[in-house]
Amino acid sequence: MSDESYDIVIVGGGLVGNSLALALAQSSLQIAVVEAIDYEQKTEISIHSISSCDEACAQTSSAVYIPVHEQRDKHTTKSQLERRRVEDNRAIGLSYTSQRILQKLGVWPQIEAKAHPIDSVHISLQGRFGVATISAAEQGLASLGCNIDIHYLQKILAHRVRLEALALYAPYRVNLCHRVEGQWQLTLTNGPIEKKLKARLVVAADGSDSELRRTMGITAQVWDYQQSALVSRLTFSKPLNNRSYERFTPLGLMAILPAGAHEATFIWSTTHDQAAYWQNADEKIVLQQLQNIWGYRLGRLQSASPAVHYPLRRIEANQLYQEGFVLIGNAAQTLHPVAAQGFNLGLRSAMMLAEVLCSAQKGGRDYAEAAILAEYVAKQALDRKQIARFTHFLVSRFAADREFFNQWRPLALCGLEWVPGAKSLLARLGLGGAQKALWV
Ligand SMILES: Cc1cc2nc3c(=O)[nH]c(=O)nc-3n(C[C@H](O)[C@H](O)[C@H](O)COP(=O)(O)OP(=O)(O)OC[C@H]3O[C@@H](n4cnc5c(N)ncnc54)[C@H](O)[C@@H]3O)c2cc1C
Repeated sequence: MSDESYDIVIVGGGLVGNSLALALAQSSLQIAVVEAIDYEQKTEISIHSISSCDEACAQTSSAVYIPVHEQRDKHTTKSQLERRRVEDNRAIGLSYTSQRILQKLGVWPQIEAKAHPIDSVHISLQGRFGVATISAAEQGLASLGCNIDIHYLQKILAHRVRLEALALYAPYRVNLCHRVEGQWQLTLTNGPIEKKLKARLVVAADGSDSELRRTMGITAQVWDYQQSALVSRLTFSKPLNNRSYERFTPLGLMAILPAGAHEATFIWSTTHDQAAYWQNADEKIVLQQLQNIWGYRLGRLQSASPAVHYPLRRIEANQLYQEGFVLIGNAAQTLHPVAAQGFNLGLRSAMMLAEVLCSAQKGGRDYAEAAILAEYVAKQALDRKQIARFTHFLVSRFAADREFFNQWRPLALCGLEWVPGAKSLLARLGLGGAQKALWV
């Protein structure tokens, strides 16, 4: 069997890997993506059809999203894992910059058709006075961003990769990767089927627990926030009117993002114990307690889907590239979702990497050279650093520190309303990073 040869192999066709592939699609570089899950074929499985999903999962165990670290989480019981296995129920908040990038990548019309715009964000404190509102109108924009179901986004990106006639090996796992005479040799498997690929450059977009990062001997700093994000779907009697809500509570930060006229994605960063309790609680109790926390600004809380929990960590790879190898997306840095920036940052990185690689190739330079990859890392450094710091600050100060909650948060909200430029800065970071994007 002769090895198939590519200029660039992207390992991990998740949100960031597939976005990078699309950004490189118009170049003359030969691109392949290897992805363990067949996102195009994966049906959007309802949490209510557990038995049929278990069958499906048993047949294609690779088509299941369970981060490796979660399997080791001592707080995750077997039944929680069973439930977790059913569905990755996240919705992704896309910033304004991300929307424009996705437009460039040719996928925006399909995404827009199912996205829920966010025109304003309402920030409040439970049991305290002090509210801040950030609106698209005051920022001079049509919207601040939008909210989209992660399954749908994955599916659209994977489908577009195929439409662009890029090679997509899915479901295939990269098991081995080694370098021989300036070329990578990769071994992929799908059950008993094995394939071998060759590549000049390998991009690791294989997520937070990146096996490639480990294989390359690259270490990472890990901050365990000792928190989980609980994600669920809620319905309210009053319409959301394209408004999202963030509420600081003594139990952690909660957010409600529009997912329909009366529907919302609910995300709550809290302790593992709270998360386990709420995940197993009866729906009636959940509805009652959430109603107490949120009040009646959205009317009566009518339903809550079973929650799924995601352990939260910040991960920063200590090195982002080697000759012929570069990390991107969650494999390079994983952020707490409090500021909804993980994919947004990963997408901007993908655009920057594509731009640097294409301009190297056009200029007759070796795009796999360490100096070229260093150029990419340097150009992305400010955005990466500012977003990581901003997110970490929100988590450590605003979301997790009770003393800070009691003393300073009301003032912080007043500050947002009254300090000139404070809201614009927050909006600018949320909308798409600190750096002015060149590609939009
Ligand atoms: C609760 C929660 C809410 C979030 N909300 C937001 C939000 O609102 N906005 C936002 O911007 N971000 C958000 N994020 C972050 C966002 O989900 C991630 O930053 C983003 O999904 C990272 O994409 P990725 O492609 O780098 O990694 P992943 O999505 O993890 O994709 C990695 C891919 O690599 C594949 N893979 C792994 N190993 C191999 C292998 N050996 N061979 C082949 N394939 C492999 C996996 O199957 C997977 O598809 C949230 C995160 C959480 C936990």
